[in-house]
Amino acid sequence: MDFAPDTTTREITRRVRDFVTDEVLPAEPVLAEQLAATPDGWSFRPVVRHLQATARERGLWNLFLPPGGPVGARGGGLTNLQYAPVAELTGYSPKLAPVAMNCAAPDTGNMELLAHFATPEQRERWLDPLLEGAERSAFCMTEPAVASSDATNIATRIVRDGDEYVITGRKWFATGAMNPDCGLLIAMGKTDTGAARHRQQSMVLVPRDTPGVTVVRGLTVLGYDDRDHGGHAEIVFDDVRVPAANLLGGEGEGFAMAQARLGPGRIHHCMRALGIAERAMDLVRERATERVAFGAPLADQGVVREWLAVSRIETESLRLLVLKTAWLMDTVGNKAAMTEIQAIKIAVPRAVGQILDRAVQVFGAAGVSGDHPLAELFAGVRTLRLADGPDEVHLASLGRAELRRRAPFLTRPAPAHPSPEGDLT
Ligand SMILES: Cc1cc2nc3c(=O)[nH]c(=O)nc-3n(C[C@H](O)[C@H](O)[C@H](O)COP(=O)(O)OP(=O)(O)OC[C@H]3O[C@@H](n4cnc5c(N)ncnc54)[C@H](O)[C@@H]3O)c2cc1C
Repeated sequence: MDFAPDTTTREITRRVRDFVTDEVLPAEPVLAEQLAATPDGWSFRPVVRHLQATARERGLWNLFLPPGGPVGARGGGLTNLQYAPVAELTGYSPKLAPVAMNCAAPDTGNMELLAHFATPEQRERWLDPLLEGAERSAFCMTEPAVASSDATNIATRIVRDGDEYVITGRKWFATGAMNPDCGLLIAMGKTDTGAARHRQQSMVLVPRDTPGVTVVRGLTVLGYDDRDHGGHAEIVFDDVRVPAANLLGGEGEGFAMAQARLGPGRIHHCMRALGIAERAMDLVRERATERVAFGAPLADQGVVREWLAVSRIETESLRLLVLKTAWLMDTVGNKAAMTEIQAIKIAVPRAVGQILDRAVQVFGAAGVSGDHPLAELFAGVRTLRLADGPDEVHLASLGRAELRRRAPFLTRPAPAHPSPEGDLT
C-alpha cells in the first residue's frame, strides 16, 4: 500500500492551491459586497464570472470528470483518487471555488447523468452548454408531498401523449433552479404506475421556460437562501409538454439513473467537506492564539487543544476512508464501491458538523454570527446529512450489508480489494 500521491496529483493540487490562495480567498469579501449590493438577484455575481474565466485560463475546468468518459478531452482527465484532494481544496472556499472551476453540485451530477445516458442530440443541446459553464441545471426529484428519501414514492406523473410527454407534479429543493441561467430541469416522475416498484420512474429534460413550469419560491436552509448558488427552488409542473425526444434514457430507467447519478455526487460532497474541516481548524488556530480570556490565550486551555486534536484525528481518518473509496471507484467501479460510498456519506458530514460545532464554541458569539464563515459553513454541512439521501437510509443499507456477511472475520478469504464487498454476494 502506497500513500504517496502520484505526480499528476501533486502537480494539479499545487495549481489548485495557488488558485484558491491567489484568486478565490481574496474574492470572498468581493462576493459578500456584490451580494449585499443586489440582495434580490439570483444570478451569478460578476466576481464568479471573473473567477470562472481565470480558472479556465489556468486549465482548472471540469476537473471532476474522469478520464476516458463520453466527454473525452473536455473532462478534467483526473481519476477519483486524483480528484479527491482537488475537491478538498475547493471545499476550503465552498461558495466560490467549486463553481469557479465548474465543479459545483448539482451541475456536476447532471453533467455525469447526461454524459452517460443522453443521446448525441441531447448532449449537444444540454450537456455542451453545461460543460462550457454557459448554462446551469437543476435536478428535480424531491417532492414536498411524499417522503422522498424513498424515491419510489415520487408522485409526479409523466404521461406520453403522441409525440410529447406531459408532466404534472410539484417538486422542491431543486438546487440551482432560482438562477436565471438555469435552463435545464431534469424532472423525475412516474411513466408507468403498474410496473415493478423500481421500474415506474423516468426522467425527462425540461427547458425551464416551458409553459406550465412555475418556479414558486426559493427555500431557505437554516435561514440561508444560498442565493450565490442559485438557491433551492420549489417548482410546479402543470401540464408541461416536452417533445418525446426529451426522455433521458429509457422509460422505467429513472430510478436506476438516479442511483447512478448520486454515487459520485456523494463522494464529491465528502471530499469538499474535508476542506471545510481544514478551514474550520485554521480559523480556530488563529482565533485561539490571538484571543485572551482569564489572562491567557484560548489556545492555552486544555479543552481547546483537545478539541483541535480530536478534529485532526477525525479529519485524517476520514480522509483515508474517502481516498480508499475513490480508489475503489476507480478500480472496481461505483457500484462495487457502494458500501464505502455510503459509509463516508454518513461519517464525513457527521464528523465535520462536530468539528464546526467545536470551532463555533471556540469563537464564542462571533461563531454564530454572520461576521465569520463558521455559521454558514455549519448550515451547509448539516444539510449534507439529508441531501442525496438521509443518514438513516444509508445506515439501514450498511447494516443489511453487515448482516449479509457469510463468514466470521478470521475465516474470510483475503479479498482482492480491501472492500467489505469482497465477501458479500
Ligand atoms: C440543501 C439541500 C439540497 C437539496 N438538493 C436537492 C436537489 O437538487 N434535488 C432534489 O431532488 N432534492 C434535493 N434535496 C432533497 C433531499 O434529497 C431530500 O431531502 C432527501 O432525499 C430526503 O427526503 P425528504 O426530505 O422527503 O425526507 P423524508 O423522506 O420525509 O424522510 C424524513 C426522515 O425520515 C427518516 N427516514 C427515512 N427513511 C428511513 C429509513 N429507511 N430508516 C430510518 N429512518 C428513515 C430520516 O431520518 C429522514 O431524514 C436537497 C435537500 C437539501 C437539504
